Amino acid sequence: MKAWGHFCTITHHKILVMRGCFKIGLYRQGLLHDMSKYSPVEFLVGCKYYQGNRSPNNAEREEKGYSLAWLHHKGRNKHHYEYWIDYGLEKEDGIIGMKMPVRYVAEMFVDRIAASKTYQKENYRDEHPLAYYERGAARLGRMIHPDTAALLHSLLKMLAEEGEERTYAYIRNVVLKKDFPY
Ligand SMILES: [Zn+2]
Repeated sequence: MKAWGHFCTITHHKILVMRGCFKIGLYRQGLLHDMSKYSPVEFLVGCKYYQGNRSPNNAEREEKGYSLAWLHHKGRNKHHYEYWIDYGLEKEDGIIGMKMPVRYVAEMFVDRIAASKTYQKENYRDEHPLAYYERGAARLGRMIHPDTAALLHSLLKMLAEEGEERTYAYIRNVVLKKDFPY
């Protein structure tokens, strides 16, 4: 049954993110991560377009021309850089990515690891989230703030080079401290 499959996929993802967030000391965010996926507008679309190997939002988008589930999701979950897209302070800015608070950059980092693990399964390597980010980075343009992009990119590089445990320790002990330069 698709509803059960979808429920298991999102719950499995939530548990992975929760474990990662707990390792870096983000307990509240670990518990609340992606909660809106259980709301009717997101959950029912997820069931209808469930495929198991990619996001159901893509299937909804292909059929309707937009994904209501994703628009609902990104408007409520601060760990997505899309949440932070707003009018810039200067008139000529237009709509741009604002600088994300560090704790949401950290949650976004954990989220990317969990998503890579879910899609790559036993083939997952610490290099995968970096490769995925770098494949898409050119298309981001001004939709993600340069400081946010630089921090995320540096964490993904550290993950690829030094592994998950060391990067989580670095985030917990350095990145999430008040005096971290960002
Ligand atoms: Zn999310």
